[in-house]
Amino acid sequence: MNYNRTYNFSAGPATMPEPVLEEIRDEMMNYRGSGMCVMEMSHRSPVYQQIIDEAEQDLRDLMHIPDNYKVLFIQGGATLQFAMIPMNLMKNGVACYVETGAWSKKAIAEAKKYGDVHVVASSKDRNFCYVPDCSSLDIPENTDYVYICENETIHGVTWNKLPDTKGHVLVSDQSSMFLSKPCNVSDYGLIYAGVQKNVGPAGMVVVIIREDLIRDDAELDPKTPIYMNYKTHADNGSMYNTPNCWAIYCCGKVFKYLKSIGGLEEMEKRNIEKAKVMYDFLDSSKMFTGTVDKEFRSLMNIPFVTGDKELDAKVVAATKAAGYDNLKGHKSVGGLRASTYNAMPKDGVEALVEFLTKFEKENG
Ligand SMILES: *Cc1c(COP(=O)(O)O)cnc(C)c1O
Repeated sequence: MNYNRTYNFSAGPATMPEPVLEEIRDEMMNYRGSGMCVMEMSHRSPVYQQIIDEAEQDLRDLMHIPDNYKVLFIQGGATLQFAMIPMNLMKNGVACYVETGAWSKKAIAEAKKYGDVHVVASSKDRNFCYVPDCSSLDIPENTDYVYICENETIHGVTWNKLPDTKGHVLVSDQSSMFLSKPCNVSDYGLIYAGVQKNVGPAGMVVVIIREDLIRDDAELDPKTPIYMNYKTHADNGSMYNTPNCWAIYCCGKVFKYLKSIGGLEEMEKRNIEKAKVMYDFLDSSKMFTGTVDKEFRSLMNIPFVTGDKELDAKVVAATKAAGYDNLKGHKSVGGLRASTYNAMPKDGVEALVEFLTKFEKENG
């Protein structure tokens, strides 16, 4: 069916798989004979319990999450985790952070409110266009965790190899790469992802946390809000208070969709093919250049520039007029950025590349 939809290259909230949107539409007025829409349902009803249980199980299946990890659906987006992580995981009050771009910088600034933060590596010297070597970091013995942002959404850099944490707990912000490829959960103590980049509607984060990192209220600062202790969510099946029922429902649909197409191995294959279309173009173009060192190029967020601000603006306007939306780069990098999340079809990237090729010919 033709809905006259645009190719939406937004960095988030972002494009969703059409079959999922269609299913949601079909269930909008009456979810499977319940007589109501999911957004009208009590979160305490058996019908909703089944939705959240299946969402969790499908995510566990997709990522092969071991039994000693909890899956939590928490509100406040990824940003609330910048505070929740130090509040819960700092026992000694010491943490190491790797600074690779805008999102790790925000996490660092927040963590500094709660303890002693060591920035053990940074790629600031070249405006975050690479991931620094983390094979021999200077990590203090009493470090509670080592923190990375595994895909920097704004700068378009991604980790190919996890840091050597010297046995310390690894914490990763996977917001803009969640479920884009297989993930070995046991390499991490805590993984989290705001869902509006690759999975569903904004306003929720998925936290995957190893059970031994969850602590009693009495072990945390007494002023820690109840909502901000992971234990509150773990003990109550992510329903201490009313959860983001709608987002959980939509994410659950996407989890099922990913399973149906062959899981994360298949998703990664498609993402590599898709990103290659864009990167091959950038590497052959005389007008456009990718801003990230080849080794660290993201499969999900592809920033590129012409080197001329006025021309950049002209390209953004031309792409928008032609039906390719949200390609304006973030102000800290400039130029353009194509976000090619899971739900962006290869057709969309090919069409964009065709358009940019033509633009280059006519304006070069
Ligand atoms: C978008 C994003 C965030 C912030 O997410 P919110 O849900 O808006 O709080 C954090 N980290 C990364 C890597 C992101 O891409």
